[in-house]
Amino acid sequence: MKIDDAPLPKSRNLDVLSEFEKSKNKNNASFVVVGHVDAGKSTMMGRLLLDLKVVDQRTVDKLRREAEIIGKSSFALAWVLDQQSEERSRGVTIDIATNRFETDRTVFTILDAPGHKDFIPNMIAGASQADFAVLVIDASIGAFESGLKGQTREHSLLIRSMGVSRVIVAVNKLDTVSWSEERFNEIKDQVSGFLSATGFQQKNVSFVPVSGLHGDNLVRRSSDAAASWYTGPTLVEELDSSEPNARALEKPLRMTVSEVYRTMQSPVTVFGRIDAGSLQMGDALLVQPSGEKAYVKSIQVDDEPADWAVAGQNVVLHLSHIEPIHVRVGDIICDPAKPIPRADTFIMKALAFDFLMPMQVDVHRGRLHAAGRIEAISAVLDKVTGAVTKKKPKIVKPAMVARIVVKLEAQVPLEAGQRVVLRSGGQTVAAGLLE
Ligand code: GDP
Repeated sequence: MKIDDAPLPKSRNLDVLSEFEKSKNKNNASFVVVGHVDAGKSTMMGRLLLDLKVVDQRTVDKLRREAEIIGKSSFALAWVLDQQSEERSRGVTIDIATNRFETDRTVFTILDAPGHKDFIPNMIAGASQADFAVLVIDASIGAFESGLKGQTREHSLLIRSMGVSRVIVAVNKLDTVSWSEERFNEIKDQVSGFLSATGFQQKNVSFVPVSGLHGDNLVRRSSDAAASWYTGPTLVEELDSSEPNARALEKPLRMTVSEVYRTMQSPVTVFGRIDAGSLQMGDALLVQPSGEKAYVKSIQVDDEPADWAVAGQNVVLHLSHIEPIHVRVGDIICDPAKPIPRADTFIMKALAFDFLMPMQVDVHRGRLHAAGRIEAISAVLDKVTGAVTKKKPKIVKPAMVARIVVKLEAQVPLEAGQRVVLRSGGQTVAAGLLE
């Protein structure tokens, strides 16, 4: 039985792509913020939102008073993003504005809340939808060195494996080293070295010396005389001059569900990004893996009601004619005429982060997590040409590329070209592309 008895909505049959061409005044771009714990990711994003007036000083002052109670007033900025996600999770109103900011040219979405407990799965989900990454490095003495050995490397490998090719490195906390240009250059050299080794092209990597805490070189230039040697772009200017990935506007509709809410408008309201294609009010949709149909009752793009939405946009859809149990985080909403297939086995070309052999793994694809198993290793491949160098190896060593067969415990929506990460015991063991 369907929960809605209302007549089925009718699509307005708009030519969405030409509507989009007509309306296009700003780019949409999304980015993830990665880097070692305590590098200053949350503080930087809080400060950015404050300086761009997305959040007001009153909110930060209120957070600062709360932070002072526990003796950590410097945490106020870091709490800006946390507070937003908490408000969102209450799901009463959907306000996604606060993880978003605009420049004259671009509407930006910060894709995940840094500092989330479950950071890596969250980051994988964010990176799978990101146009760029901001890699935050703590420049203070000792911290940079331990960060490089720590999560900086894993995060860089992960974002590269998820298809992110543009990285802006924010060399942070330069206030703690008196804005030493020498320190900045030392870090720049080392980080560019290992980013190229990770597969990033030099032309897609840039470095900005910043202090997230004080807001130097984020939105406005540092007024500290010691920082006057830097005359390059600010972090926001660097983001603004980056070209987002090409959008698959003409491909069949694919939208990844990031959040599901019950709202006044609909018992099934979803938030997510349109990865490919377009949709409009009244459209029939198919939700995978449940295979249930739904209809678009209304749409919000960037918090404004909209008649349609296209690939690259983060949207809220109020759905009708579907039960809440049929829509879950990690699902894919698609065009019923060209649905994404479901499968419980896939073949992938994987870059090994660790030793791989037939073993249990957690499979992450965007927001989807599923239990699975490496069933077989078909071949080791040449890293550059992709040619088979060895058939049916027993084991794959770290840094090798291999073709592997993975079996899942349940059917999930899968198609070639998706990026998947395999984890085991809380560690990333491989990442790559579905074939
Ligand atoms: P995250 O784990 O990467 O999100 O890091 P946080 O944003 O929580 O910051 C960790 C600590 O570094 C906090 O105590 C911040 O106040 C401090 N911090 C962050 N940015 C700066 C900075 O630019 N300068 C200084 N001196 N401290 C900073």
